[in-house]
Amino acid sequence: MNEKNNSYDLLIIGSGPAGFTAAIYGARGGLKTALIGGAAPGGQLLQTTEIENFPGFQEPINGADLMTRMLNQAKRLGAAILQEEAVKASLKISPFAVTGSSGTIYTARAIIAATGARARWLGLDSEKKFIGKGVSGCATCDGFFYRGKEVCVVGGGDTAVEDALFLTKFASRVYLVHRRDQLRANFRLQEKIKANPKIEIIYDCVPVEMLGDSKLKTVKIKNVKTGAMRELNLTGVFIAIGHTPETAVFEGQLKLDEEGYISTDEHKNTSVPGVFAAGDVMDRNYKQAIVAAGAGCMAAMEAGKYLEAVNSN
Ligand code: NAP
Repeated sequence: MNEKNNSYDLLIIGSGPAGFTAAIYGARGGLKTALIGGAAPGGQLLQTTEIENFPGFQEPINGADLMTRMLNQAKRLGAAILQEEAVKASLKISPFAVTGSSGTIYTARAIIAATGARARWLGLDSEKKFIGKGVSGCATCDGFFYRGKEVCVVGGGDTAVEDALFLTKFASRVYLVHRRDQLRANFRLQEKIKANPKIEIIYDCVPVEMLGDSKLKTVKIKNVKTGAMRELNLTGVFIAIGHTPETAVFEGQLKLDEEGYISTDEHKNTSVPGVFAAGDVMDRNYKQAIVAAGAGCMAAMEAGKYLEAVNSN
């Protein structure tokens, strides 16, 4: 590709619902649009099984299917989908430049940051030791390996409860270890988990150590109210304790809030004119696919207006 071919009106970084919706609106709005989507475009929803709260799907839809539909829709409307990571962004001067993992430099006068968020770990040394040997951050990816085994999920939010329910398809018993005496997950999920006989919810407890040899065998948990210790003999632990925004590529260039999310105004403008942000990378409150999609739409519409103003000067 020559340099001219790598220059776009709008460059979107990230391939979740925010990124794809921005690509759909950008391309449909007549902008030469490209989306840098990583090696496996789709974002966090690739790790979700059934989605039943995305409007328009009467029956639950699989996360990967939903993302494939968004990707194909963006392509059909003319957006280029670039299957590589964005490794560097230069946002000090316009046109902005983004370097892909292939070394290719892409330029654009408008950028939408839609890089989402990544799953958090507990931070225990013993957790690190067993990642991939019993400790996992993705129930939908690894649940299959625990057929007939006992496992536990750590966390009390929607993800943890969904993971625990999903794991009952394979595991003989699932513990949900939560640090408080009340789940954070939505009411419907709470009803489902409490009604599932394969799941035991352990409240007020946190894992303090993971033990085993080449593979995980035991998780020590501590009651945060009483200090009592308990050992769970199991082979799989799924960590589902929330997410951290993916902002590494923008470090030092865009203003972030105190929790590391990209700061935006109500029009999705970041601290750099011409750079917009949408989805979980800027949303500390909702983190819903439909909200991310809406934000992607807003960012693309604002990018279109911005480019029109720049081009008419
Ligand atoms: P979350 O809502 O932030 O929940 C994280 C959970 O992990 C909380 O229960 C939290 O405890 C616990 N936690 C955090 N740090 C911990 C630590 N160091 N040790 C032990 N426990 C810890 O994250 P999420 O469940 O991934 O959900 C993220 C967002 O996506 C939410 O807005 C959620 O509604 C949304 N989501 C929606 C769906 C759906 O609608 N189908 C599915 C998945 C996710 P506390 O409760 O004590 O803070």
